[in-house]
Amino acid sequence: MGAGPGDPDLITVRARYLLDNCDAVVYDSLIPDELLVTLPVDVDLRYVGKKTGEHSLPQDEINNLLVRLASQGKRVVRLKGGDPFVFGRGAEEASYLQEHGIAYEIVPGITSGVAAPAYSGIPCTDRRDASYVMFLTGHKAVDKMLSSVPWDWVGGAKDGTLVIYMGVAEIPGIVEKLLAAGMPPDLPAAAIERGTVSTQRTVTSTLSELPAAVAEAHIRPPALFIIGKVVGYHDALSWYRDKPLFGVRVMVTRPSDQSAELYRELRELGAEVLAYPTIATIEDFRSDDWDALRKVTSEDRWAVFTSENGVRYFLKQWYATIGDIRDLRAYKVAAIGDGTARALHAANIAPDFARTTGTTAALADHMVAKFDLSQATIVRVRSNLSSERVEATLEKAGARVIPLQVYRNFPAKWSAATKTKLFANLPDVITFTSGAAAAGLAKNLTTDELQRLTNGATVVSIGPATTKRIESYGIKVGMESKIHTMTSIVEDLIARHHTNPLKRTPWSAG
Ligand code: SAH
Repeated sequence: MGAGPGDPDLITVRARYLLDNCDAVVYDSLIPDELLVTLPVDVDLRYVGKKTGEHSLPQDEINNLLVRLASQGKRVVRLKGGDPFVFGRGAEEASYLQEHGIAYEIVPGITSGVAAPAYSGIPCTDRRDASYVMFLTGHKAVDKMLSSVPWDWVGGAKDGTLVIYMGVAEIPGIVEKLLAAGMPPDLPAAAIERGTVSTQRTVTSTLSELPAAVAEAHIRPPALFIIGKVVGYHDALSWYRDKPLFGVRVMVTRPSDQSAELYRELRELGAEVLAYPTIATIEDFRSDDWDALRKVTSEDRWAVFTSENGVRYFLKQWYATIGDIRDLRAYKVAAIGDGTARALHAANIAPDFARTTGTTAALADHMVAKFDLSQATIVRVRSNLSSERVEATLEKAGARVIPLQVYRNFPAKWSAATKTKLFANLPDVITFTSGAAAAGLAKNLTTDELQRLTNGATVVSIGPATTKRIESYGIKVGMESKIHTMTSIVEDLIARHHTNPLKRTPWSAG
């Protein structure tokens, strides 16, 4: 099925549904990271695309893999960039499944040849300027089908639009053939690289000057070419490039199960999200701690939440062990962080004491300053990595503290394909919302790789404790959030980008 052209939101509702209900995903290189990293950890992910300097898995091996996975009873998604039937070999794979008696369905996707120009303000057809559109492949003769474009005939097409896929290496030869066939040399033309993602680039010129313009701008695949008068709309209709973080590649290292909103927010602002979680979380259920909680008799009870996951797993375990949410009424609720606040809000719980900004440790200080906790029993909801300072501060104030561990963080192990992809498109900004995320990154990379990744990028930290940890790996922190929220980090990025572009290399957008 089609994953769409690059922007993860451009997947169809049907494809999204199947992705959310599958056991295995066999995918190519142009699939947006976000679609993959947000899948449950038990989904079997198989990369069959190109590795650096190598070719993709041969087609018959892909075919066999699909049959093998399906024969194991798995619900298999074969995820392809754009649309599976537009230069996507979808039909070859479907025929193979058909021959082997495997049930399948085809889910169309938005093809890049329509979507990339749309994100560039170029309509494929237009009542005034183009009454037809042709999709062509510029790929040279690797096999017969691909070599059969009748360029001299296509060159006669003056009042329509040509969309040429896979032609970066071949464009000089193609243009030569079109001109020889009588296409006007001053016809508007464009190259669009990485269409529909924030780092999309559009280069426009005339047909005869297109090869030189493409070479000068170092256009690289994935890119396609548009030839026709419709290219003239690009300047006026370029809605995408006006977004505040357009062109900025932001790497997000925190766990993907807490990041869906952040990914979206960054994308709404026009940034490209590189979703590379370096840690993952898993539920941890400690029956002894819940026994202790059950025995609490104090009149003055608190539950302290310092993370979104803490809220989520706590409520799940509460229901499993204690049951009805109404019994939680016996507890006052304290919370720190905007993610924590959102998770409580989602569960219709209004905290008695909340700070949306500030460090976790500061929450305990604030509580101690504001309340007499000498008779209190405080349930401190935590993970294996939560700061011990909260417990210490509350105990010093005379409270009895029950640490309740409801989840664990562990380093996410990256595959070779993940690393290859990251180094092919280095981030401009790298965000860390915890020291553990920095540690997780260092675990996945060699010292040399860590330097290559971070040199030239703006490294952003959520607060002093995280900064210290990042710097312990020899990484320079370029920005530290003053109020320690992800929202403030995003605001700081916009402000910084405005005055001092957050790009690794000078770069022309479009
Ligand atoms: N099935 C895909 C096309 C696969 S062929 C689809 O429907 O879009 C691969 C070619 O598609 C690339 O060489 C490039 O020409 C084009 N392409 C894919 N994604 C693109 C993108 N985001 N921007 C520009 N071109 C893209």
